[in-house]
Amino acid sequence: MRILIVEDEQKMAKLLKKGLEEENHSVTLAHDGTEGFDISRTYPFDVVILDVMLPGMTGFEIARRLRQSKKHVPILMLTARDAVSDIVKGLNLGADDYLTKPFAFHELLARLQAISRRGPVERLPKLKIADLILDSVTHTVCRAGKQIHLTKTEYLLLELMMRHSGRVLPRNAIVEAIWGFDSEIENNTLDAFLRLLRKKVDSGHAVKLIHTIRGFGYVLREEQSS
Ligand code: CA
Repeated sequence: MRILIVEDEQKMAKLLKKGLEEENHSVTLAHDGTEGFDISRTYPFDVVILDVMLPGMTGFEIARRLRQSKKHVPILMLTARDAVSDIVKGLNLGADDYLTKPFAFHELLARLQAISRRGPVERLPKLKIADLILDSVTHTVCRAGKQIHLTKTEYLLLELMMRHSGRVLPRNAIVEAIWGFDSEIENNTLDAFLRLLRKKVDSGHAVKLIHTIRGFGYVLREEQSS
């Protein structure tokens, strides 16, 4: 595979390059965000490994700009800490997967193989689960052809859940993604928002989409009500 690594820590970058070349991959290095973005936009790669904290331009910004310019190359994000908000932010901006530093090299290889196998996936501006459609360009939501009016927070919650549909999202991941890492919102605030959102999205429909996983979090998936 042709792999681009955007990583400002020289030692880390060299180690990764060496390891990947030993696995017969062809590796290009970029040491800051601006250079990383220019190279990733200009040359074809099978995978881009993107550090988040970079001089010049963050990994988030590179991912966002690549997707904006219709570059669908698979992106593996490297986050320095296990911050759920960083992870969710990265995935929402167009990363395909992430690794938290420090990580084992075989873990990196496994993730690279997985995302490169999927290949470039176009991120459609419209998300659709069952008869629920969210248009991220016009910021409108429809269920069974009827528009649903949501507040900003409700919209963000729904978009997050639709982007990760089928996956159970832990409560703290949702809170961090919507309100930020240092937010001090009341414990029941999320539940209150979810109740309102569920009422707008699910009430009157036989198929329920928003589900509570007791003691853990929430998931958006198609389920026939019993
Ligand atoms: Ca860094």
